[in-house]
Amino acid sequence: MRCPFCGNVDTQVKDSRPAEDHVAIRRRRFCSACGGRFTTYERVQLRDLVVVKTNGRREDFDRDKLERSIRIAAQKRPIEPERLDQMISGIVRRLESLGETDIPSKTIGEIVMESLARIDTVAYVRFASVYKNFQAADDFDKFVSELRPEGKHDE
Ligand SMILES: [Zn+2]
Repeated sequence: MRCPFCGNVDTQVKDSRPAEDHVAIRRRRFCSACGGRFTTYERVQLRDLVVVKTNGRREDFDRDKLERSIRIAAQKRPIEPERLDQMISGIVRRLESLGETDIPSKTIGEIVMESLARIDTVAYVRFASVYKNFQAADDFDKFVSELRPEGKHDE
């Protein structure tokens, strides 16, 4: 595994342990060239998913990209990292179990929003505001006020 800091390919695994209720293996890695430390996750991939964008372009589904967008939305929110990991794995499993290899980006956005809404309203609004590409503050306010009457998303 290439070091994300210096690009050296000779990195060592220092520690491996099950994560996310044994859905993943978490490995702590160490780069002997720069001393950098980083973490990788190993997971079962049931099928290769393809994201179909609104403009028709297709690209391979990238879990890391999904994870980054969710982490940005959840930044500084009181959400347990483990809970977020589980949520992300849950989203990926849902996508994999849709039974289709091609998944519209819209579907992914909706599943993410639905999942985020259950755990944190602020993270949900942040994600949704980017996802729906609200540009005018008016729209954003309208969206938030539309969000309120629903209130709880608990089941
Ligand atoms: Zn390095």
